[in-house]
Amino acid sequence: MSNLAPYAINATVGRNIYEESPKYRSEFQRDRDRIIHSSAFRRLEYKTQVFINHEGDLFRTRLTHSLEVAQVGRSVAQALGLNVDLVEAICLAHDLGHTPFGHTGQEELNRCVIAAGGDGFEHNLQSLRIVEKLEERYPEFNGLNLTYETKEGILKHCSLTKAKELGAIGQRFLLNKQPSLEAQLANVADELAYNYHDIDDGLRANLISLEQLEEVEIIKTQLTLIRNKYPHLNGRRLDKELVRQLINITIFDLITTTTQNIQQQQISSLLHVSSAPQLVQYSKQMYAQQRQLKKFLMKNLYKHHSIAQLRFKAANIIKSLFNAYMSDETLLPQQFRAKIADETLITVVIDYISGMTDRYAFRQFNKLFAVESV
Ligand code: MG
Repeated sequence: MSNLAPYAINATVGRNIYEESPKYRSEFQRDRDRIIHSSAFRRLEYKTQVFINHEGDLFRTRLTHSLEVAQVGRSVAQALGLNVDLVEAICLAHDLGHTPFGHTGQEELNRCVIAAGGDGFEHNLQSLRIVEKLEERYPEFNGLNLTYETKEGILKHCSLTKAKELGAIGQRFLLNKQPSLEAQLANVADELAYNYHDIDDGLRANLISLEQLEEVEIIKTQLTLIRNKYPHLNGRRLDKELVRQLINITIFDLITTTTQNIQQQQISSLLHVSSAPQLVQYSKQMYAQQRQLKKFLMKNLYKHHSIAQLRFKAANIIKSLFNAYMSDETLLPQQFRAKIADETLITVVIDYISGMTDRYAFRQFNKLFAVESV
């Protein structure tokens, strides 16, 4: 803890419910450990990022994605003198509220909720709901009773209406302030990790090729460097070396640019961080290259014909389950039905569906709609 920069978070302002400080670990290490032991964290293993998990064991899931985000986050935090434990806790928790079937699941659930007259579905609000309420494992409180700082990092975006309902944690959206550097970093680490591991998974699944990828400037440059250094390298080892170098140079750019921003803005305290512009950033050149890469992935990978088929199927499952539970609450398992007394039906249905893993959602869909399984 002694290597912390003056603009890093060095202590928590507290937890909702008071607890004595842990003896052998920091408050943020305790948060991290609680997240790792949560049921929502274990379910990430069977939730998809872009690809459907059961299509191959080698592809990323939300669990491996979260671990990779935490790795990127820790590396950068260390270099910037930020609170590594806090960054790790936020990174590991950032996707807890994600639906089954990746972004398709989230978009479809959002559409369904709005069509049914609700406020919509936002996965980072759901992540917050999980750590504040839905995890039931401690005798004295619901949720994980995490520190304010970890929860602040989990809540990446938020509408102003929602922010008003959320109290202290929503304040910064109303006041237009920045969150801690640790929270800013977790957000950028998420994007950095998924862009590059989607390339890796896309190459492995033969959905995109190196030749195609060369139209992206940052990739062309790295491939040329690698080919000059290792003229005989090919196959998966070349793909891996490419992804490795891409992650390296992007992290390097992020550390250098953020350090410059901190110096230029003369940031020397937490208060400065919250009123400054976003400080954890790429250089202008890297930002442009990342945008080009995202465009490429959108066009060639996320909209690829075979992914589109999976997306279509996934959206149909989410919609069918949502409509079924909304029209007949007796289809919900007893422990969820019992919650209808305290919560609205739509909230219970959202909690139930968003908590499903991909395979659990498939199974429920088959139970309700497959003609052959009676
Ligand atoms: Mg993520």
